[in-house]
Amino acid sequence: MAEPLATRRGTLPVPTFLPDATRAGVRGVSSDDLRSAGIEGLVVNAFHLLRRPGARVVQAAGGIHRFMDWSGPILSDSGGFQVWSLIRQDPSRGVIRDNEVIFREPETGEKWNLTPERVVNLQFQLGSDIVVCLDDCTDAEAPEAEQERSVERTVRWARRCREEFDRQAGQREGHAPRIFAVVQGGGVESLRRRCAAELAAIGFDGFGFGGWPLASDGSLLVEPMRWVAESLPAEAPKHALGIGRPDHVVNAFSLGYSIFDCALPTRDARHGRLYAFKPGWETRRPSPGDDFYRAVRIHDQRYRVDHSPVEDGCDCPLCSRHSAAYLHHLFKVGDLSAERLATLHNLRFYVRLFALLRGPGAGS
Ligand SMILES: [Zn+2]
Repeated sequence: MAEPLATRRGTLPVPTFLPDATRAGVRGVSSDDLRSAGIEGLVVNAFHLLRRPGARVVQAAGGIHRFMDWSGPILSDSGGFQVWSLIRQDPSRGVIRDNEVIFREPETGEKWNLTPERVVNLQFQLGSDIVVCLDDCTDAEAPEAEQERSVERTVRWARRCREEFDRQAGQREGHAPRIFAVVQGGGVESLRRRCAAELAAIGFDGFGFGGWPLASDGSLLVEPMRWVAESLPAEAPKHALGIGRPDHVVNAFSLGYSIFDCALPTRDARHGRLYAFKPGWETRRPSPGDDFYRAVRIHDQRYRVDHSPVEDGCDCPLCSRHSAAYLHHLFKVGDLSAERLATLHNLRFYVRLFALLRGPGAGS
């Protein structure tokens, strides 16, 4: 079991759920909303913020915390995964080379050049509390030679990130941020283990499970996650990047992962998909395989006349004041508050789930 994660802006109890404020905001909700829901930290994306509004704008605002009015810990993802996804969808948008990533904006033709050093600098400019190394992503099902090249690049880039991080931290006053590296290797056990061991030997404050975390059937890559967790120091914070389905969270937590970020709860909320504990599970700590929650598809006709809350006993602003029928109606008429209320409910569901996972005897 990992220790609580100390950052210069406070300590995050673990496991912790960090909602994705990718572009410096969690869509539709304010910082006050997030605090009221019990959210303790956020994830932003350095690559997306470089594109818009630009690191200089954020820096001139006094850093990412002041820019978005958030005083708690912020982890900035490097954007290695996002740039890889965008280039994979459309190879004309850029290229990933041994020493750099080049990305072109499709509309403006503007060119971004990402190197390990630049990505670390960028995160210092933002004022992030947890800096993440640039990594080289692959598909879990890509051929082994490709996975091996990705591991070699990822380790080489992580070493350069670590050196740049130490240089930057040495030049600045005050508490330094933390730095995490990301483990690649796809579905190849020897490569996952090697990548984890080599990154651990360089030395980082935490480690992420990199690459797309799901198999083609949507199931969690449990075995690769296990190899990585086993190959890293037991006490090291482990970040399950992008893993967010409630049952996947429970699984990953049981494997030793303690930091989670995912756009799923907020994105699902905006599409009228809410999560609720099944009766009797509101106060029980779920284990892998437990059928502890249900999805409420609020657009379904059955909710038109359902005057009970989305989840009985939930203390969120939606459930404590409104019925499922009211939320169904707000979505039907396109009222903007529908997405906000649904988002607040899902965030609260995650905060409650994580409190259950931390519960007495958690991870012991
Ligand atoms: Zn609720």
